[in-house]
Amino acid sequence: MSGPRVAIVGSGPVGLDAALAVAERGWQPVVYEAGSTVGAGVRGWGHVELFTPWSMNVSTRMRATLGSAAPDVADRTRLPTGAELVSWLLEPLARAPELAGHVRVGARVLGIGRAGLVKDEEIASDARAARPFLLLVEDHDGERIERADIVIDSSGALSIPNAIGDGGIPAPGERALQHAIERTIPDIGEEPGAFAGATTLVVGAGHSAQTAVRDLAALAHEAGGTRVVWAVRDREPHWGGVPGDPLPARAELVAGSTALAGGASPDVDVRLGSSVAAIAERDGRLLVALRTRGVGEEVLADRVIALVGAVGDGTLHEQLQVHQCYATAAPMSLSAALLGSGSTDCLAQAAPSGDTLKNPEPGFFIIGAKSHGRFGAFLMQTGYAQVDEVMGLLDP
Ligand SMILES: Cc1cc2nc3c(=O)[nH]c(=O)nc-3n(C[C@H](O)[C@H](O)[C@H](O)COP(=O)(O)OP(=O)(O)OC[C@H]3O[C@@H](n4cnc5c(N)ncnc54)[C@H](O)[C@@H]3O)c2cc1C
Repeated sequence: MSGPRVAIVGSGPVGLDAALAVAERGWQPVVYEAGSTVGAGVRGWGHVELFTPWSMNVSTRMRATLGSAAPDVADRTRLPTGAELVSWLLEPLARAPELAGHVRVGARVLGIGRAGLVKDEEIASDARAARPFLLLVEDHDGERIERADIVIDSSGALSIPNAIGDGGIPAPGERALQHAIERTIPDIGEEPGAFAGATTLVVGAGHSAQTAVRDLAALAHEAGGTRVVWAVRDREPHWGGVPGDPLPARAELVAGSTALAGGASPDVDVRLGSSVAAIAERDGRLLVALRTRGVGEEVLADRVIALVGAVGDGTLHEQLQVHQCYATAAPMSLSAALLGSGSTDCLAQAAPSGDTLKNPEPGFFIIGAKSHGRFGAFLMQTGYAQVDEVMGLLDP
């Protein structure tokens, strides 16, 4: 391979699709993956069933690469789980001749800069493009600087979880109890004993929190003494429902949450209009002060699951010239386009145009779930469209 060396941060579906697009041009992709496996981000929620079918999860490039082994070609009639997305799609892609040797797992990018220039030099000037990018990479051999001509940051939106305190800042005690607060969707089927007979406080209202509460409610129905307290910030949450939702699994989840909020389960106490005022350790359990519609309450929980959203790691590019939206943390032009669409439904999001993906920093692109900042909802098929747009900008 010749041509520009393209560093791709993250081996999720969008990073791998970008790597295929780079490889098919005969350029040199290098995919850095912080986790110990390909698609480590997706693996973190591997037990969760996707809302989208294979036909929406496999890009045209992926299908062309895998041929008859592509999972949407084989007979796979039900929705995949995150783990299946990794083992049936992402891992075979990383092993395919087009990408073999170009995906480095256990390699975390810690910072991206321009050789010889700091952030405020050569402002939005083509002179920056004449200098290579420098990436500080950490792997099992330690830290080193690697170079690239183009950088595609597809490091996902899960890097920095939001805090649970009111106003988005940590609640008193939250920082000290970081180790005790869970921030991923629990695999209740895998470890029912950890939740059966226990009190679990779930904080958050998005689809991840809804999935956790749905699964806990099902366990509570079977295992007596299991209790769930669900703290939801909005007084009247809409649960991300979409009229006439074409994704039945999402519609079902939303309907279930609406029913739980209406008191459908005696084991789930839903607190609408609630925020966490403080959290402390008490005799090996977690004592959480909730304030719900102005009324204080203490919940003594065995487990606290905080699923209040997350955002990608903006520190990676803090030495680059990136114009980020002050409200959403997404790149400014893309954020304006998304805000203009006026919808929080990921299916309704406008297809990106190449211009919305350009940054003042030449040759640096943020795509995939990270590009949507705090918008939250994101579909990988949007990421595949972004890859096409970025390649359109780069093609001579
Ligand atoms: C529970 C859940 C369910 C979802 N269901 C769907 C669905 O049904 N359909 C759908 O289209 N989307 C769904 N999504 C959204 C989904 O996450 C994205 O569509 C998809 O994973 C985005 O791919 P990505 O490549 O942008 O990011 P990711 O898949 O998150 O990949 C980013 C990768 O970058 C790595 N990384 C992070 N930081 C660094 C670093 N500094 N250096 C190197 N590597 C790094 C991470 O380890 C990760 O593997 C769901 C998300 C969640 C959380």
